[in-house]
Amino acid sequence: YTVRPWETRKVRTTCSYCGAGCQLYLHVKENRVVKVSGVDAAPNHGRLCVKGRFGYHFIGSPDRLTQPLIKENGSFREASWDEALGYVAQRLSAIRDSSGPDSIGVLTSARMSNEDNYIAQKFARSVLKTNNVDHCARLCHASTVAGLAASFGSGAMTNPIADLSKADVILVTGSNTTETHPVTSTYIKRAVRFGKAQLIVVDPRDIPLSRHAVLKMTQKPGTDVAWINGLMHVILKENLHDAQFIKTRTEGFDAFKKALEPYTPDAVSQITGIPADQIVAAARLYGTAGVGNIVYCMGITQHSTGTDNVKALANLAMLCGNLGIDGGGVNPLRGQNNVQGACDMGCLPNVYSGYQSVTDTAAAQKMEAAWNTTHLSEKMGLKATEMIPMALTGDIKALYIIGENPMVSDPDLNHVQKSLQNLDFFVVQDIFLSETARLADVVFPATCFAEKAGTFTNTERKVQRIRPAVPPPGEARDDWSITSALATRMGVPMEYADAEAVFDEISRVTPSYGGISYHRIDADGLVWPCPTDDHPGTPVLHIGKFTSGLGKFHAVEFIPPAETPDDDFPFTLTTGRLLYHYHTGTMTMKSDDLNERAPECRIEIADSDALRLGVVNGEMLSIRSRRGTIQARATLTPAIMPGTVFIPFHFAAAAANRLTHAALDPVCAIPELKVCAVALSPAKMD
Ligand code: SF4
Repeated sequence: YTVRPWETRKVRTTCSYCGAGCQLYLHVKENRVVKVSGVDAAPNHGRLCVKGRFGYHFIGSPDRLTQPLIKENGSFREASWDEALGYVAQRLSAIRDSSGPDSIGVLTSARMSNEDNYIAQKFARSVLKTNNVDHCARLCHASTVAGLAASFGSGAMTNPIADLSKADVILVTGSNTTETHPVTSTYIKRAVRFGKAQLIVVDPRDIPLSRHAVLKMTQKPGTDVAWINGLMHVILKENLHDAQFIKTRTEGFDAFKKALEPYTPDAVSQITGIPADQIVAAARLYGTAGVGNIVYCMGITQHSTGTDNVKALANLAMLCGNLGIDGGGVNPLRGQNNVQGACDMGCLPNVYSGYQSVTDTAAAQKMEAAWNTTHLSEKMGLKATEMIPMALTGDIKALYIIGENPMVSDPDLNHVQKSLQNLDFFVVQDIFLSETARLADVVFPATCFAEKAGTFTNTERKVQRIRPAVPPPGEARDDWSITSALATRMGVPMEYADAEAVFDEISRVTPSYGGISYHRIDADGLVWPCPTDDHPGTPVLHIGKFTSGLGKFHAVEFIPPAETPDDDFPFTLTTGRLLYHYHTGTMTMKSDDLNERAPECRIEIADSDALRLGVVNGEMLSIRSRRGTIQARATLTPAIMPGTVFIPFHFAAAAANRLTHAALDPVCAIPELKVCAVALSPAKMD
């Protein structure tokens, strides 16, 4: 497609892929997006990764949903909005009235805007009268929200991305940053190359970022609490901790200190496989840094001990006084474009927008007044990882899933499929007929980010605009508009002139967004908390005081993963993401350029394991766990610890989540997507 600059117009918006929130221009010719370029004047300085720059073909894909669909006799037929909305309103009302509000669940998406997410949770709470509302943060950073909130009072990134340039030491763990948050990784690499930062990388794989590290440690998957406790044991023993910070800013130190005693470098080495001298070296590097910055992602969070892992990192930062300072902090890189915003908007079963508890009567009364309703439930709702299994037991009878694809993203897919097929009524709202949408009774077609106005909140809590560049395909509508029309059909009028009117309501009821408006963020975003119209926003949290007052140390013990290798399943499987694809691939797999570079699922296996098993590069393998089997070609690599294999989870045809374990963290119910036991055999022998 020839693109001459004078034939196109440019629309500035926010990238819809990862949580870095890069600013980009969509170049539009004849109502089609034909090119993407970076915004030089934005914090990403014009930089975009391959997904942001070349992954736009999904917008104009002929596979986009254009019309509501209703399933009849096992097949979909097209329907009018009037018929589809009327049918869904009647079925959901009947199930709510006969089986009770808590028999229905709503799952929203981190890919949708703040406005879409806000209306979805308002629908669940004020129309269905249930707090059964959740979203995909349950699968990625629920443990961050729980762990950092318990430690600091606020479950979000403490410092901005640009602060990485001010760090003396950057500790990256459980984040393959160059592939999952590529532009963020450029800040880390530049801090090392042009700044003063020394980089420590801790990961079960030899990820590309480790080439820039002064120290690289390879741990057995699922042993994070042990190595973090080991670092703190050494820091205390060598008196490298910040005694003044601990005394004036924190509580719970004595019990925490006592719990660290068994975590000597030798003991930690036995558990983690990391040499003892590396534990000591890492402790000295981080402990003596003037400014230490911790960056982590799902390698830390997606464990049955995910909340403990996050608390352990919070302990480490407090121990060395690295909070409330420029360049420091504990910085979870949120995976999807608006996962921070979906949490902020209250798409969680325990809180309204701005983390106002549903069990707080004053908060419920405030929302009742704002929403002109009564009898909001003060009972905590179900989490996503509880709702889907409860569809199989019949306790959940209907689900309304907006922009999610659990048939690829959730653990133990064979179980997920049985659960979704057992629902009495199932509605999906999406931009494509995803693997999940195919199981639905009704499908609503939605607009994508390039077709609507709204806001995303990036990983550093910055609220930024998205703007419509092209018209929606067919009769697709904005998510907030579909959900509010459904509410109106169910007897609860929910009418807004546009997305800005929805945002104005968000600002009125959400204290941390109170001073944010479309007008104020038109040029650049604003970082919450921003409580008033003249507030400049808060890029660095916890200066002088934690959100909770004092920071809280937690004594955290190492607990092994829920499933470890044995004679029948001798390998540890860990899952993750690739540079060229995003989440369940519904968007990136519409781009030939990206598919060309990552056309199929491959399993990474250590050279030494392959030699022992007689596996050659490119050989098709059968991979079995106690829950399912998939086939994928082998990639032999020296970059993974022997005994461990890696499979990206993007590919529906060889879905890694057919193998993964649904063991849940007891605090936040995040599943253990990063560790399970598998067996390998040549595919031809099956
Ligand atoms: Fe988009 Fe993330 Fe890439 Fe930036 S780094 S262009 S936000 S996918």
